[in-house]
Amino acid sequence: MGSRRVADTPSVQHEACDVCVVGGGPAGSATALRLARRGLHVIHLERRVFDACANDTLRSGEGIPPSTMEQLKELELAGCSRWALSTVDHLVTRWPNGRTTDDQFPNDATITMIDRERFDQALFAAGAQAGVDARQGWQVRELALDPAGQCDGVLALDPARRPVTIRARLVVDACGRNARSIIQLGLRKALTCTQFLVVVLYVDALPELEPHRWEMHFWGGEQLAIMHVTELAPGLVRCGLAVNLQTRHNTPTDRLPLFFWRHVQANRSLAQRFEHVRQVRPWYARAGLAYGVQRIALPGLLLVGDATGYLNPILGDGIWAALRSAALASDVAYRACSARDVSRARLAEYEQRWTAERRTRWHVARALLRGYEHPSLLAAPAYVAPFRKMLLGALLRR
Ligand SMILES: Cc1cc2nc3c(=O)[nH]c(=O)nc-3n(C[C@H](O)[C@H](O)[C@H](O)COP(=O)(O)OP(=O)(O)OC[C@H]3O[C@@H](n4cnc5c(N)ncnc54)[C@H](O)[C@@H]3O)c2cc1C
Repeated sequence: MGSRRVADTPSVQHEACDVCVVGGGPAGSATALRLARRGLHVIHLERRVFDACANDTLRSGEGIPPSTMEQLKELELAGCSRWALSTVDHLVTRWPNGRTTDDQFPNDATITMIDRERFDQALFAAGAQAGVDARQGWQVRELALDPAGQCDGVLALDPARRPVTIRARLVVDACGRNARSIIQLGLRKALTCTQFLVVVLYVDALPELEPHRWEMHFWGGEQLAIMHVTELAPGLVRCGLAVNLQTRHNTPTDRLPLFFWRHVQANRSLAQRFEHVRQVRPWYARAGLAYGVQRIALPGLLLVGDATGYLNPILGDGIWAALRSAALASDVAYRACSARDVSRARLAEYEQRWTAERRTRWHVARALLRGYEHPSLLAAPAYVAPFRKMLLGALLRR
């Protein structure tokens, strides 16, 4: 195709549907599933081929709290034998002042650590079972816009890399942080909040780590470091280092192992425990996690999940947000398609509802992040067990 735009490339094939959902993460699959269950003709495109060996199956080693499980129950998808790796029910915290606390999660709550590839695959397959035309190995290259700027389909490459035009009354973009519409329509906006660099090392074992416990270690002065340690499965321990990037020096994108080990060396007790570990998976890293999105409802187009903006994994609610935004978007999308009106005015209800629903969470997350900027304040919960219990209860229930 050389440097020609996809739109200029003659499509070998044209197809049509009610809704084209792009992206096979939790947001896209939940949207496709909900719309198919309501009888719409849905084409769902995912660029990955599940189970391909190049896929990053664990990503950052994610966990889902009870609130996310509730969303899955709503979709009748909470049976998790294929994708659940382990559960966590205690938080062990090593505070910046050196104190250690060990708290059981209130109300028998647990966090389920997951295999993301299997999780995504299960949701994607559930859509296919419900009648979604679900396709793997399909990459969307461009949104198709009519002369008035309304989105009326997508231009995609099929698994054989042949261009295909799919016309749709409505397109749902669930492509995550680099969603097609964010890039093509210039929707990304910067957020003023603490940015982090996250580097994850997977090792075979870490001395003293107990199963079902999530360890959280704080240390460092000007540049606060936080290490999250959890056993995902026997022989597989996730060690996630998050470093506050407010101080912009020493940001290493090309020297992650050095960066990781330099921070670990600054924490004597952790350094000892890491002395004989064996790395068992490739490094995972992400920097500058927070961003906003100017609009999430445009003519003929809705954005869901991470494509609506992201703050920080601090609340562990990214998958919850993906599933919840999908629920709101599919409700509005169904009614808009039934009324044959996908104007911005008609779809704006989704933007209002999702923005309002997420506002409180973002306030809470920003308040917690502020603590990271003041390590002396951060140690306060080390002395007040009821406060920690309340905080944990609120975080897990939300
Ligand atoms: C360090 C870190 C830790 C996290 N920890 C947690 C956690 O513990 N718990 C939690 O709930 N959340 C966590 N999250 C957040 C969570 O990963 C995301 O919020 C969630 O994956 C969003 O789902 P999504 O469906 O919106 O997007 P994604 O999961 O990113 O899915 C997007 C999909 O779109 C596909 N795609 C992209 N472009 C195209 C294209 N052009 N054509 C076709 N397909 C395309 C991709 O292949 C992908 O499958 C964490 C995030 C980070 C960065």
